Amino acid sequence: MLIQQYQKEFVRPPNPSAQHLRCYAHIDGDIGETLPHLNAVLGGHQFFPDPPSLTLKRHAKIITLYPRMIAINIVKDEDEAEEILEWLRQIINDTWERREDIEPKFDVLPKPRILDILRSLPKNNCGECGFPTCMVFATQMSEGIKSLSDCFTIDEPNKKILMEYLRKFNLLKRQVRTYQFDRFPRGWALLVLSLSIHLAFDLELGAYPKAAPLPAAALGR
Ligand code: SF4
Repeated sequence: MLIQQYQKEFVRPPNPSAQHLRCYAHIDGDIGETLPHLNAVLGGHQFFPDPPSLTLKRHAKIITLYPRMIAINIVKDEDEAEEILEWLRQIINDTWERREDIEPKFDVLPKPRILDILRSLPKNNCGECGFPTCMVFATQMSEGIKSLSDCFTIDEPNKKILMEYLRKFNLLKRQVRTYQFDRFPRGWALLVLSLSIHLAFDLELGAYPKAAPLPAAALGR
């Protein structure tokens, strides 16, 4: 078993109005060697071999695994952090047990482009999906947060085209729970942030931002 215990540390973001916390879990085992196996099992968003780290996107969060630490960029409270960490602990331990049967993976899953999704959406910004524009909805789809069935006005031919396109990205496996945007203003703030990040990323205007600062101790040095 690679991880038996972890010590959680919570940090409030510098923005004084932020409601969420960042969570850093300091783990008692070194998972650096199994990060490529976890990348194969979980479908990472970013993988760096040196220093090793694997970034995942789940539950509209960015989770980064380092050899001695797990960083989660947004949690609402300790219970939510615990739920995610326990899920990860089980997957990491299980992956470690099965590592000889898993082909390690050193690259990351491609992600559907927002503009390619948008091309097949109706682009009438009707708002029936709960989002103000089709562009915002396309952003959510590219993350696997929303699925095609959440757009109520797309016609059959475009639906087929889009399904064919999305099939390449295995989005169903990466489907995640979404925030309830109509109930939580914070969800809208995250959405705008997500939109900005991914448009910048898609247009290759800059590198993808780090999920969290990397303490040297996390690398086991
Ligand atoms: S329901 Fe479809 S057409 Fe309407 S805003 Fe959402 S994505 Fe656009």
